[in-house]
Amino acid sequence: MVVVVQERATPEERAEMLRLLASMHAGAVPAPVRTVIGEVICQPDATISEELACRLAALPAVARVIPINTPYHLASRALFPTTTRVRVGQAIFGGGDPIIIAGPCSVEGEEPILEAARAARDAGAQLLRGGAFKPRTSPYSFQGLGLAGVELLARAGAATGLPIVTEVMEPALVPQVAALADVLQVGSRNMQNYPLLRAVGAAGRPVLLKRGFAATLDEWLLAAEYILAAGNPNVLLCERGVRGFDPQTRNLLDLSCVPLLRQLTHLPILVDPSHATGRRDLVAPMGIAAIAAGADGLLVEMHPRPDEALSDGRQTIDPGALRQLIRRGRAVRAALMSEDSSPDAGPAAAKELVGGAHL
Ligand code: PEP
Ligand code: MN
Repeated sequence: MVVVVQERATPEERAEMLRLLASMHAGAVPAPVRTVIGEVICQPDATISEELACRLAALPAVARVIPINTPYHLASRALFPTTTRVRVGQAIFGGGDPIIIAGPCSVEGEEPILEAARAARDAGAQLLRGGAFKPRTSPYSFQGLGLAGVELLARAGAATGLPIVTEVMEPALVPQVAALADVLQVGSRNMQNYPLLRAVGAAGRPVLLKRGFAATLDEWLLAAEYILAAGNPNVLLCERGVRGFDPQTRNLLDLSCVPLLRQLTHLPILVDPSHATGRRDLVAPMGIAAIAAGADGLLVEMHPRPDEALSDGRQTIDPGALRQLIRRGRAVRAALMSEDSSPDAGPAAAKELVGGAHL
């Protein structure tokens, strides 16, 4: 259950509401959270009688009581029936157009990241990515340039007019990375790092939350809930493949999660076909498929010379391939949109075609 607090409620009226909520629930009443529909209080485990629910709804401090039967509340579509729009610079995630984030796996130096940024922008990407704190499986692999790398990325972003996305791995480093980056990425390996989720929730920057490689949708949405409950409404979900059994691909891209998440949550949904497949030749087909499935955008590894990349070269495409992927992805989305608005497409067909997106 979520209680939407009346904006003009007096302190006495609020106290009365909190007393009633406390009497309904054995645990402490959680603190109110600011969301796009105003201030709300989540009471996930409250089992309340109809009589109590009516008493609660009748209080002057209560605007609305919303029953929610999923473990995540703030991430639930039951709370916000329309897709949340997350604005980063000129780009609007969840606004209908697929937003493309592109750039190298790792920031490799000043000149290389500037060259990559120009190539990403010229190919049609709206945001620049680049890892500076790298979560590498082996401690002997290139670990990234750290904060100096984030600074180089920020400079390349400023020079090309592209907002930047970069991963942060340690809660203590969140403020420093947030001072430079437009979007904070939480990587697959850290999806359930709760201190990190709380820290990015308090950082005041949009967060790109990757799916843990063995996480269920409920676990992923509960990780998003940590960020939302910390007062940050700007969360982007990014599917990047789950662990499969066939070594032909690095991971198994779960594209069915796109239309499924669309039903479960109001948060924008992105897909990373690079880490999902681990293969350059599969990035464009799966990126286009993700857009056809209704994704709000893609995160793609691109390098001016993929074979020279310091990390993940095998799954990295070149600027020409990125340009073609963006062109084809946009054409697919436009074809689906025009099909939706054609006289033959009933509302059910339209809903199905865009995965139920409010586009
Ligand atoms: C990345 O995008 O740089 C990355 C490391 O991805 P993931 O966390 O999905 O493995
Ligand atoms: Mn990578």
